[in-house]
Amino acid sequence: MMRSKLCRAGLGLVLIPAAVQAQSQAPAALKPTEAPGLAYTADFFPGAAYRPGVPTQESLVGFACGQRAASAAEIEQCLKAWTAAAPDRTRLVQYARSYEGRPLYYVVVTSPRNLSRLEEIQAGYARLGDPRKLSAAEASPLMDNLPAVGWLAYNIHGDETEGADAALAVLYHLIAAQDPKVEKLLEGMVVIIDPLMNPDGRDRFVKMIAEHRGVSPNVDDQSLLHAGYWPRGRGNHYLFDLNRDSIYGVHPETRGRIREVLRWNPLLFVDAHGMGPQATHLFSPPRQPLNPNLPQGRERWSELFGRDQAAAFDRHQLLYYNGEWNEEWYPGYTDGWASYNGAIGILYEQARIAEDGVRRPEGRILSYRESIHHHVIGSMANLATLQANGRQLLDYFHATRRNAMDPTGPYAQRTFAILPTANRTRLNDFLDVLQLQGFEVFQAPSEFTAALATDQLGRELKNKTVPAGTLLVPNRQPLGHLVAAMLEFDPHFPAKVLEEERRELLNKGKSRIYDTTAWNLTMMFGLEALTLPTGLPDGARPHPPAELVPRGLQGKTEAPLGFVMDGADDRSVSAAARLMERGVQVRVAEKSFRFDGQDFARGSVLITLIDNRTFQGDLKQSVAQTAAELNLAAVAVSSGLGPGELPDLGGSHFPRLEPPRLALFGRDGLNSQDYGASWFMIDHHLGIRHSHLGEAEGLDLSRYNVLIIPDGRFTVSSNQLGALREWVRAGGTLIAVAGASTGLISEKSDFSKVRPLPEVLGRLAEYEAAIFREWLGRTGTVPAPEGLWAHTAGPGFQYPWPSIEGPHPEEKEMKRRDAWQTLFMPQGALLASRVDTNHWLTFGCGEMLSVLVGPHPVLMAADGVEAPIRYGHLALKEKNTNAVETTEARPKTESTADKREGEKKKETPRLGWCALPEGTEMHLRMSGLVWPEAAQRLANAAWVTREAFGRGQIILFATPPAFRGAARGPMRIILNAVIYGPGLGAAQPVRP
Ligand SMILES: [Zn+2]
Repeated sequence: MMRSKLCRAGLGLVLIPAAVQAQSQAPAALKPTEAPGLAYTADFFPGAAYRPGVPTQESLVGFACGQRAASAAEIEQCLKAWTAAAPDRTRLVQYARSYEGRPLYYVVVTSPRNLSRLEEIQAGYARLGDPRKLSAAEASPLMDNLPAVGWLAYNIHGDETEGADAALAVLYHLIAAQDPKVEKLLEGMVVIIDPLMNPDGRDRFVKMIAEHRGVSPNVDDQSLLHAGYWPRGRGNHYLFDLNRDSIYGVHPETRGRIREVLRWNPLLFVDAHGMGPQATHLFSPPRQPLNPNLPQGRERWSELFGRDQAAAFDRHQLLYYNGEWNEEWYPGYTDGWASYNGAIGILYEQARIAEDGVRRPEGRILSYRESIHHHVIGSMANLATLQANGRQLLDYFHATRRNAMDPTGPYAQRTFAILPTANRTRLNDFLDVLQLQGFEVFQAPSEFTAALATDQLGRELKNKTVPAGTLLVPNRQPLGHLVAAMLEFDPHFPAKVLEEERRELLNKGKSRIYDTTAWNLTMMFGLEALTLPTGLPDGARPHPPAELVPRGLQGKTEAPLGFVMDGADDRSVSAAARLMERGVQVRVAEKSFRFDGQDFARGSVLITLIDNRTFQGDLKQSVAQTAAELNLAAVAVSSGLGPGELPDLGGSHFPRLEPPRLALFGRDGLNSQDYGASWFMIDHHLGIRHSHLGEAEGLDLSRYNVLIIPDGRFTVSSNQLGALREWVRAGGTLIAVAGASTGLISEKSDFSKVRPLPEVLGRLAEYEAAIFREWLGRTGTVPAPEGLWAHTAGPGFQYPWPSIEGPHPEEKEMKRRDAWQTLFMPQGALLASRVDTNHWLTFGCGEMLSVLVGPHPVLMAADGVEAPIRYGHLALKEKNTNAVETTEARPKTESTADKREGEKKKETPRLGWCALPEGTEMHLRMSGLVWPEAAQRLANAAWVTREAFGRGQIILFATPPAFRGAARGPMRIILNAVIYGPGLGAAQPVRP
């Protein structure tokens, strides 16, 4: 049925347009088919016979596997029909629902005997997974009686479509084959097929394919048919890369899978991808760097699976490779994540093409169907290896969990301590990730002293007081490998990897590292944590599953002056945003204060009755509803008098907020992931209305008072730039992120006063002076009394900054240095930054913030530009402090090279472009690879800047603050910018 109406003819290498046959509906239907010359006729399963009762894909959706990419609905249709037709071999499980409402399924395929005892199988794996629950004597017979569980997952990147079509081919074969070999395979195994991990992304791309379908085949991989257009199909609804989300668990697709994988504990976990259309096929094992917490023995298994897979590809005379670029340092890849818990995680990467196939340099055409076939070959090869080694892999799985629990092992003497915070929402969300991952979490019921502890800056602390309420995560637990991978502060690359990376950077100017080199969860969340070199401290109690603190209205609510929501909690920003959207007048506290004897943090949100006299509705009810929605407390206060010098409500420290009218730019050229992360943040951390803008041309920008330009290339014409300038001048708050700031900060843009480092290498002294002024402004150092109160003025004045080794080298030399340092910029490392805790942008933030930094622009701020957060946490040097790692970032060769004769007294060498204030040391690298060259370049540069421009303001972020939806510390700063910007940084219009 539904055979092609369109014939495609191929003559040798020349493709000629379709000779349209005079049939009923020709030539209207643009329906791809396997045209002669493109047809790939190889049988995926030669000679297989199938049960007649299981309908074929073609009979269900109108086309055979490989003729085109099936949509999510078509895939669902197949899964439902096949599992209904073969209830003796299958079970269909829905494990999640995407943002766009598409269900995510996996299918369990196994023998009838196994199917009747799935719960028993899961329970058996769970016992093996927790060595505390069974003895070695019990483990062996249990393993003898368990089938091997394998999980094959496909198409997490929506535009790598061949994966899900291959899953259909494998599924149909396993479900429908009348073949003793398949029956035997299913007796020894429970096969879980997870065909489509990203249905929203896939359907977005399937639609792009349909949009570009023509009457002739298109085999040019540059064509839109194959390439798609912005934002393509890789990400989910919010354009996140789900193949980085496994450690953060931000999205429903990931969260559903994590829960199910933890329920099944598979021995094999395949994650099938697509790569460049002219590539071949990649599979295991990966190359170095491998994360040091990957279980022992995993490499050997990975090699065995790889060898068998290679043999299967050899039998088909196919080309493939392993290693090369695929490394496994970052633990948030889907297959990598599964590996920490005892599965053999395997990545496939197949040349990615759309339905017509792609011309290869050698002249042949790689068809879509052939591309699918490669995934099928790999999948079946891996299942065969699993089948042959099931018992040994169960041993490996059990041993992995035993090793994590080894009382003499590397995890036995290590506990991660996460200190309590008033930012309840953030701590709860952090706890939620740990619990999602199945980690065992405890809590300290009372304060205790840790004899030794390491903080996030790498400092070793003695006799550290650990407060009551601290979360304690012992590394020694069954999932200890993943606990370590996610919470360990600072894993180091092996020396050989560093050598190779260095060589590659110098020879090719490129990094070999595939993802961020740091991801530590406490640092991403901006939560203070310690590593204790001990097991779980005595008296620790299992953390209660959920805190049952009543929220909503609190205090004397009968006749209040107003309500306060504490600014320490991130959701106070959401509360302000939602209340303003409901028409409520809101204020925010610039300083911490005390009303009615209760302390509130700066950034607290206030709703007063007097401000809301014209409010149409029940104010108390609106406040209560908002607080309840956000699980926040709204405390009724009866007096606005702060004791002593603490702020009073009627003074200047409680400015009224201006409701944000927000728009976010999203269009070709911008980084779709940062656009998506910003959008996700607005939807899920604020929950307010906003607009998404395409082009800047011709828009009426006066509808908005906040504009966000995500990271990426934001190219605008001079007219558009002029329009933006006028808009800011009239009172707008313009927020630009990382790459998007480039067009605004250049001298020639005549806009922001911030400059990229390379532009100011000839006048660094003014930027250096700004750093000193800022630092002294914060410390409040006062000249000695004898000088200050002297009645005579004389020479010999001592400047408060240290004697620096002379002026900066000339611009030419600085340019040469900067070019050299730029080569070594990080690929994503966590840097400690210092925070101006008097600035409204930093509400909710302590004195230090960790930010993830990559090869982003280096922002220079002086002369009317505020830099509330800069790279490098400055601390007063303590005597007896052990040397911390960041001190090696001090220049050695450079300072001696420039050393001037005769100036040997008390000179302070510069760290990069700036000297350090006397008596301080800078902590910079927290986690990940930061070459000393990059440290020199980044130290003291601004991470966020704010400057007035006309009646409005410009706020620039050096790196994406909402990165992966997981950088919760930095995210708070952009939330403050968006919601408080119009009220605090821009002039508020009074409407006459
Ligand atoms: Zn991929």
